[in-house]
Amino acid sequence: MNEEISKLIDLQAIDSEIDGFDQEIYSKEQEITDRQQSIADKEEEMNRCRETMEKLELKHRETKAELEDAQTRIKDRQNKMMQVQTSREHQALLKEIEENKRQIKENEELLLQLMEQIENEENRVKELENLCKGEKKLLAEESDEVAKAIELINARKKKVIAQRESLAPKLRPGTQKRYAMLREKRNGNAVVQTRNGTCQGCFMAIPPQQYNEVLKGDKINYCPTCQRILYYLEEENETADA
Ligand SMILES: [Zn+2]
Repeated sequence: MNEEISKLIDLQAIDSEIDGFDQEIYSKEQEITDRQQSIADKEEEMNRCRETMEKLELKHRETKAELEDAQTRIKDRQNKMMQVQTSREHQALLKEIEENKRQIKENEELLLQLMEQIENEENRVKELENLCKGEKKLLAEESDEVAKAIELINARKKKVIAQRESLAPKLRPGTQKRYAMLREKRNGNAVVQTRNGTCQGCFMAIPPQQYNEVLKGDKINYCPTCQRILYYLEEENETADA
């Protein structure tokens, strides 16, 4: 096989390995980001609960004041009752007292409901506080673990990068350039195998005459469909072709 092709195959293998390390690092970092997001979501919900609680407490104070006003009015009307002369005045005062009693009953029911709602919010806040506490502890542990794991990955990556640095300059500048461009355009895969007359990058057929050239491996061939660099390696399971 043409030396340039075998160097390209090696370079692609190295770069794929480096990409793999980067992917590993990314997913490790993502674990931390996800955990941080989960904590932030809970803290946001806690804030919403606290805002709701403030509104409910305000409503509770207002309702309690209304109730006390009604109680005051009842006392006032009861005092007046002792001074009234006519039955009509008496009836009017009785009616007012009844209305205020009804008001008090409504207020009492509302106060109970509000207390229950406030308690629900309080419980949710406590629950979220506990969850956050647990998650923050996990985050601290995970951050340490992830930092260590990334350190190990980077150590492995460094070795592979050293291999790359010794190999890449051995390629012709034009080949390097084309390889780099293909890597960028083809999601990291610039050099691909062929199998049964097909490019394994885009899975399109290669014209028979070109495929013969690929099989010989004397010169660099590019896939007519995806422009990737093609090579052929004999495999045990491959059926006769071309
Ligand atoms: Zn192709």
